[in-house]
Amino acid sequence: MIQSNANTTQNITVLGATGSIGLSTLDVVSRHPEKYRVFALSCHSRVKELVELAKIHQPKHLVTSSKADYPKLKAYSEETGLACQVHLGNDALCMIAADEEVQVVMAAIVGAAGLLPTHAAVQAGKRVLLANKESLVMSGNLFMDAVQQSGAVLLPVDSEHNAIFQCLPQQGFCQKSIRKILLTGSGGPFLQRDLATFADITPEQACKHPNWSMGQKISVDSATMMNKGLEFIEACYLFGVAGDDIEVVIHPQSIVHSMVQYADGSVLAQMGQPDMRTPIAHTLAWPERIESGVASLDFSQLTDLQFLKPDFARFPCLQLAIDCAYKGQAATTALNAANEVAVAAFLARKIRYTDIFKLCLATVEQTPDNKLSSLADILECDKHSRLFATNYMETLL
Ligand code: NDP
Ligand code: MG
Repeated sequence: MIQSNANTTQNITVLGATGSIGLSTLDVVSRHPEKYRVFALSCHSRVKELVELAKIHQPKHLVTSSKADYPKLKAYSEETGLACQVHLGNDALCMIAADEEVQVVMAAIVGAAGLLPTHAAVQAGKRVLLANKESLVMSGNLFMDAVQQSGAVLLPVDSEHNAIFQCLPQQGFCQKSIRKILLTGSGGPFLQRDLATFADITPEQACKHPNWSMGQKISVDSATMMNKGLEFIEACYLFGVAGDDIEVVIHPQSIVHSMVQYADGSVLAQMGQPDMRTPIAHTLAWPERIESGVASLDFSQLTDLQFLKPDFARFPCLQLAIDCAYKGQAATTALNAANEVAVAAFLARKIRYTDIFKLCLATVEQTPDNKLSSLADILECDKHSRLFATNYMETLL
């Protein structure tokens, strides 16, 4: 049974504080100084920005995961006269996620780098606000088992999963009463683009999402719709459902953030502005509601909401990720690793946009269907898949 947080001040660690989700989290938190106190903040290389955030939020700890940037973080924080401890590396990230003074952890590091700190927060039984979908895609069953064992309260920040969470009955997914989870996605910037020109897509074009402002990796994932595929996998693990229980629906306006269709024909949808402060505020305060700073929807302006079937020829990464959800943990871990390698290479202009799918497919196809029963197994599969993808890239150049 979850106790209300209404009258107690909660200490929060924000993993990935300098990113899009991290900054939105701090925006919501700063609206409620009586409810939340910032305990620790982390970044990778944007150490100057981290120190600026520390000046405002006065955390006890700052962590960078970048060895090269650690001396700068130390120097800046000393120059500024900050009264906080400065740390480097994964152990420090896990420490600020699991410290006994912390009640709430926002897991907003991008990619596989978030795996260990997010697990540390889960294992320590924290209230974990999960934005870092990659950690769940890589380690779904282990992750959910750890939540069960530790008593952590896992709340989905990803807007679609947050919407589904809000639309599901309190006891969770129930096969008898629910027909389908309807997972919506905008279709990204290339929903209408001529398929013949896809090989020419630039990183700038891929990162220009029509509705959401996000970090670069998830922006590219949204363009390829790998993001929706990762979310399909995320939903399977989070809600304990099979692939057949989920249908992807294209909704270009990003006003409906996902839906649940019940046996009696009712459909519950969660709607709102495409602003991540809504799901962030929801996970911070659940089961209460707090002010997020997000404007209300003006229904007189919502004249043309569309809902379409996805075109898998246009978005082969989406089909591949759905196939991986049916295959199991080794496939989803390999897919995630290959996608991270491919997106980084595309952003660095080393491969074409269309190569992202080729790299992911080749990596998944060579992945044996081994059972991954520990974090060590998962990290090994991740490492092997990255190596394969990096080598395979040579054949595409
Ligand atoms: P950003 O790229 O904006 O931010 C990522 C954060 O992670 C930054 O603080 C970054 O530090 C840090 N980081 C990067 N690399 C490492 C590393 N190797 N080790 C530790 N920390 C690292 O990403 P977003 O905020 O957009 O996304 C964060 C997560 O939330 C992702 O998993 C994404 O899928 C998920 N998400 C995001 C949404 C959004 O609207 N943005 C919506 C739903 C989910 P630095 O700034 O120093 O590089
Ligand atoms: Mg999402």
